Amino acid sequence: VILAVALAWSAPDVAFDPAVIAEIHAASPRERGRLLARLRASWSDEPSLAGAPIVLADAAIVEEGGSLRFIGTAEVWWTATATQRSITLRWLPHAFGGEITARSAGVDLPARATETLVEVPLEPPLSAGEGGALTLRFVVDVPAPPLPEDLGVFNASNLGLFATDGQIVALGHALPIVDGDARVLPQFGEHGRFPAGFWSARLEVPPGFVAVGATDGVRAGVREVGLAALRGDAGLTRHVAGPPAVTVYAAEAGEEIATHALGALRWHGERYGAYPWPSFTIVELPWLPIEGMEMSGFAFLRRGTSPAGMVAAHEVAHQWWYGIVGSDPRNHPWQDEALATYTAWRYWQDASGAAPPPPPDERAAAYLPGAAYDLPTYASAVYRQAPHLYLSLAEACGDRDLGRPLWDYADANRFGMAGPRAVVAALERACGRRKVDQAWRQWIQVHP
Ligand SMILES: [Zn+2]
Repeated sequence: VILAVALAWSAPDVAFDPAVIAEIHAASPRERGRLLARLRASWSDEPSLAGAPIVLADAAIVEEGGSLRFIGTAEVWWTATATQRSITLRWLPHAFGGEITARSAGVDLPARATETLVEVPLEPPLSAGEGGALTLRFVVDVPAPPLPEDLGVFNASNLGLFATDGQIVALGHALPIVDGDARVLPQFGEHGRFPAGFWSARLEVPPGFVAVGATDGVRAGVREVGLAALRGDAGLTRHVAGPPAVTVYAAEAGEEIATHALGALRWHGERYGAYPWPSFTIVELPWLPIEGMEMSGFAFLRRGTSPAGMVAAHEVAHQWWYGIVGSDPRNHPWQDEALATYTAWRYWQDASGAAPPPPPDERAAAYLPGAAYDLPTYASAVYRQAPHLYLSLAEACGDRDLGRPLWDYADANRFGMAGPRAVVAALERACGRRKVDQAWRQWIQVHP
């Protein structure tokens, strides 16, 4: 599909300083690269964010007939690291009929959208060090949640992360994201690899609605911001705790979720490096077919998940394993999932006294891409078996929370992307190669 037509609606103005936006678009690509570098430096001195993409989104929910429409503008700015002839963005709403247009320096560009990817050709191409700037305008009716029987497969388009029941509007993956590798969605498995960037999002809502999530200025080092909107209270009670400022919207276990989200933020911060963002938000979804889904500074939880405090702790753990240290959740799902499961188990053990669960009776290779599994084997190998790599090494190495290797892993890969070798190497440095080899064979490789 080629979407080059002007969309017949008016998007709200971007809240970010319009003079800066105009300056970025008017600059030559070379000069734009310099302007973007200066902007990043004004927000953060993290070396790994020196070339990070910038997303400034201004969106709104509009009631239109019987549906809730998500419209908006996103400024997407980046710096080319090599000759670049196009840029590909991840935009989940296209899978639900969303339309998006692209413009740069006052010129309309054709945006080729397929499935959840949007590719915009750059003519002339950018050279290394040059800056790109797109103004994306989008419109989509937020779809109804998936039916429970739809979860025959599991991928980002059928989890109800971008969905509304008319009361709660979940805006997961709803803004365009600069994608790390722009692969089409697999039949089974998680989303793409998102580089850490600078994000600012504003969300306007109709009268009687509340906007929820990261709408508090530019955030450094986030992979995407989480947003939602609620009609009235949407049947959810708001619980707050902190610092860091935790806000939970839940019908049932809100107090428990807030207590353990805060507890897990502090527990992880003490062991693996401070939580880098000003707030953390959790919104419970009645229709979520999985227990939870993480975004930077934000998570959705399934209503009725149990123990809710432990599931909240798992999504908090992802703030380090996914958020601070990025990885490839599709090719190496064990890398962030088994680690988030292990550190959340440890937090939960300290908070509740409950011992980590025993491994499953049936063992399977745990290092495979998500697409190699069916749902029961995936859940068993990645979430129940693979975390025992860490439990067994914690015992063998006399470091209960693996504080030393995991601090090093988080620190060395802060706001970057790490392959699985990086976490294994950190474990080897702390525990010795022989012990790690042995644990790897037992819990991850698993010879048949
Ligand atoms: Zn997880």
